[in-house]
Amino acid sequence: MINYLYIHIPFCIKKCVYCDFYSIPFKSKIAEDYIKALCKEIEFRKGLVGNLTTIYIGGGTPTILTENEIARLFEAIKDNYAINPDNEITIEANPRTITSQKAEKLLDLGINRISIGVQSFVDNELITMGRSHNADDAVRAVKDIRNAGFKNISIDLIYATPYVKGQGSKFKGVTSSFEFQIQNWIYSLQKALELNPEHISIYELTPEVDTPLYEGIKNRRLIMPDEVVISEMYYKGIDMLKAHGYNHYEISNFARPGYECRHNLNYWNRGYNKGEYLGIGVGAHSFIAGKRISNTRDINYYIESINNNKIPIAEEHYITNDEALKEFIFLGMRKIDGIDIEFLPDKKRVLIKKAVEDLAPYGLVEIKDNHLRLTRKGLILMSEVIVQVLLSLEESRPS
Ligand code: SF4
Repeated sequence: MINYLYIHIPFCIKKCVYCDFYSIPFKSKIAEDYIKALCKEIEFRKGLVGNLTTIYIGGGTPTILTENEIARLFEAIKDNYAINPDNEITIEANPRTITSQKAEKLLDLGINRISIGVQSFVDNELITMGRSHNADDAVRAVKDIRNAGFKNISIDLIYATPYVKGQGSKFKGVTSSFEFQIQNWIYSLQKALELNPEHISIYELTPEVDTPLYEGIKNRRLIMPDEVVISEMYYKGIDMLKAHGYNHYEISNFARPGYECRHNLNYWNRGYNKGEYLGIGVGAHSFIAGKRISNTRDINYYIESINNNKIPIAEEHYITNDEALKEFIFLGMRKIDGIDIEFLPDKKRVLIKKAVEDLAPYGLVEIKDNHLRLTRKGLILMSEVIVQVLLSLEESRPS
């Protein structure tokens, strides 16, 4: 039985220039139909769910929904599923869609964690990213959430925001655009720390093809920081957050002790029989009984299909043993503690140990206390290092 539930709300105030998630502008009529469909899907999936440990309402911007719409969703959840009293229930928020009054209502519904997409405390950067809020909105929103009584708040920040040609600096005496980007980043980290959240996530802004951000970089209106600057930003983030008592537990995630995100840890703690979750809603993914399943990404088709009593599955794929092993490695190595190599089949463990020996001169990955993990130097090169580790599993690979 599944104990981890994700519900997708695809609506946003407007599209951010870097976003390639499935999200659409909010319209009250379609939101109304969508909530009805979600409540039905929750009921259809009843037989799969055990005692829920975590619920994650993500998006999109779930707090764009009215208090009543969110309440109806929770009514459906509570009518159909059992919730463990020791739970983590998260909702994602955007600073412009949360007030003290709304936060109080969310708390009453049982939501005990808010993850707020602040991204930057520098207005110029927020404009560059096409965000729908400014820095003051973010400060006000976090304070409102705290005043409403939330004891678990997570702030998302983004680094490596491109520099807009001709943009001035808010810092006196800073003339180089790259120095200016680093100063902006330190400023955002400081502002986040002043708000004293329990959890902070820091993400590198990566230009995805077919986004306005990508086009802006291609036509040189936007200038990305170079790799050295990006690396400096990342390590600056790690050092500042750790110095303020945050535990760096995953490549991009930091938490006060005991506030690590239990929902996301379930994804990263993928073992051979672990990491199952149910995803409800348009474009939502599930991992159930060794099978990865995804719902359609077309909201109209989703609503129509659910109204016809059919869950609109777009893809289903049984994970082979080989794929399961790879997932265990690439998801687990995102964690700073890495993976326990005792869980690997003997032959694979030997191959991995050999790969780590081969990579030793670069100092990017290590086995310590039986755990395969990235070194501090290897964190910024996570994808490349994991690819090397995975390649080592191909026994026929020429040496
Ligand atoms: S708020 Fe989030 S989901 Fe919505 S457009 Fe911006 S990045 Fe995408």
